[in-house]
Amino acid sequence: MAAFVEVAFDIPLAGTFTYKNLAGDKAAALGLRVAAPFGRRELSGYVVGEHDSCDLPEAQVKAISRRIDSEALFGTAQVDLARWMAGMYFAGLGECLAAMIPSGRRETEPPAWDATDPGITEAALTLSDEQAVALDRITSKAAGTWYLHGLTGSGKTEVFLQAAERTLDSGRGVIYLVPEIALTGQVVAAARSRFGERCALLHSRLTPSNRLSEWRRILRGEATIVIGARSAVFAPLPDLGLIIIDEEHEGSYKASNAPRYHARQVAMKRAALSGARLVMGSATPSTEAWSLMSTHSIEKLGLTKMLAGGAVPAIEVVDMRDEGSPISARLAQAVRETHAKGGQSILFLNRRGFAHFFRCRTCGGGINCRHCSVSLTWHKDRGALICHYCGYRIPPPRSCPECGSLDVGWSGFGTEQVEEESARLFPELRIGRLDADSTAKKGELEKTLDDFREGRLDVLLGTQIVAKGLNFPRVKTVGIVMADSSLSLPDFRAAERTFSLIVQVAGRAGRFSPDGRVILQTLRPDSPVIARGRALDVEGFQTEELATRRMLGFPPYTRLIRIVFRARERERAPEAATAFAAALQPTLPADAEILGPAECPLALVAGTARWQLIVRAPTLGGIHLEIGRLLSGYKAPAGVRLEVDVDPVSLL
Ligand code: ADP
Ligand code: ZN
Ligand code: ZN
Repeated sequence: MAAFVEVAFDIPLAGTFTYKNLAGDKAAALGLRVAAPFGRRELSGYVVGEHDSCDLPEAQVKAISRRIDSEALFGTAQVDLARWMAGMYFAGLGECLAAMIPSGRRETEPPAWDATDPGITEAALTLSDEQAVALDRITSKAAGTWYLHGLTGSGKTEVFLQAAERTLDSGRGVIYLVPEIALTGQVVAAARSRFGERCALLHSRLTPSNRLSEWRRILRGEATIVIGARSAVFAPLPDLGLIIIDEEHEGSYKASNAPRYHARQVAMKRAALSGARLVMGSATPSTEAWSLMSTHSIEKLGLTKMLAGGAVPAIEVVDMRDEGSPISARLAQAVRETHAKGGQSILFLNRRGFAHFFRCRTCGGGINCRHCSVSLTWHKDRGALICHYCGYRIPPPRSCPECGSLDVGWSGFGTEQVEEESARLFPELRIGRLDADSTAKKGELEKTLDDFREGRLDVLLGTQIVAKGLNFPRVKTVGIVMADSSLSLPDFRAAERTFSLIVQVAGRAGRFSPDGRVILQTLRPDSPVIARGRALDVEGFQTEELATRRMLGFPPYTRLIRIVFRARERERAPEAATAFAAALQPTLPADAEILGPAECPLALVAGTARWQLIVRAPTLGGIHLEIGRLLSGYKAPAGVRLEVDVDPVSLL
């Protein structure tokens, strides 16, 4: 038993604190949570170290109040990973541990397996030649990184499951990451029927106490395959042999609160630390992952055949330049026809509809920032088009800079508008809605999906998150309502996201409904992104996208660190951002630059003004080091809060 313990609290502070340990069977040790006096409060924290002596005078060192756990919840492996995260993502060590470890106090039985799961008991399938080659490659080395690239229905899941089985047979553990458990019932059902009690499921319906019992089952080695969303990447498997990342391109793998980690980045780190394999897969790899494949840092394994039959449907493109409503006559007719025949429809919306863009009604062209090449956003109140990366602004042009047409205006409609319009167009249909906000509410996602699955809804409005939800046999019509508003988002990943949505939707619709149709609405039917999406030309899209990124200096050719300044008193945010930029600029390496200060695209959230700096350089090291130095001595002005995001995924 050590005389002193080192405690990390769940607060955004880099440091840890030394406390006197208690004696005898009350003593704390590494891996336990304790309660300890902190200022005038008592906080619970994590014991991350033990010492026999202490440099501080005895009198200044307080004792912990009590220990919370009787058995260790984590070990040095978790502390090491948390330290790496704290450094990488500019977060507190305790914050990182809190993101990893369940907060429950008592263990309770997790709820029984969901009885509504389609109880398919299935054995491993005989692999196709391509699948067999992929599995051989993956199992040819004990460690490494592979990528299964193939359309939905090409048999990726089967390869994942068999790779998992091999790993379990060799006595090592498996983490299987999915973007959202509620939408991946089939994977869960298959894993359950193959691995039974050895599965642990970490999902949003679990209470903290349920999570704690699942966590303990994993620690004790009773559960050796863990299926879950983002945070399951921290599952404390004693001997980790394989991490699977399904739907690698999904944005939900990036945490939106501190610590702002990316599960793929953490998975790479963990796989390296434990000498484990990492296998990712998607029909539409992220451009970052594609670039790693093209430089052979990751081995690409292609799956080209649709194994369950079905075909990719043709995508019908509707030119929206002549349409008054966000739902074209063509799409409305398809939805009605589908309903008349007893089928269902899904309408995909953009993640957010908050902004307006300049749009030429003759050529469909928009206006990009001349420095950043992201779309300018129209701000009516200021009468200007503004770049949200660098702050560049221009008055709205009276004619189209591309074709000279005078028929120009604004486009961009919000999800609310589409909802209202659908209600107006289809008064007799039952319409449900799913988006990132509704998935945050416990149980709501499941309920809407159940309602849709069981036919209590006719139309589902949703964001990209429901792409997996196309796994419904009665869905015959799929509409991509506003392909352009995701293309016009002020984000350098706009093309990547739009392309990925089109391919995901087309692949899935074809798999389950051979007679299904996909209708894509766009103001830019000639856009190369849309053409490549229709043709499912992933290679062509990525090659062109990488060339653009290289030319414009965006990831993967550069690394970004985004710093957001939030303030209730609006002027405080730009002031703080300007001062920070001025202090940072002289310290940066010569090849680094600061974009901004600029208002964030989501400039006001709940009455709080948001401004940002985007720091960019060919490599992360230098900017990371200097920002870290500046932050360590930095005290934000009163009323200003800072958020630092390394390798940001969303720039809204
Ligand atoms: P993906 O994960 O790429 O979308 P899945 O692994 O889910 O693809 O496979 C799609 C369908 O093909 C499933 O219904 C699955 O049962 C079937 N399938 C996969 N591999 C094989 C195989 N080797 N032989 C026969 N059917 C297969
Ligand atoms: Zn034009
Ligand atoms: Zn700009």
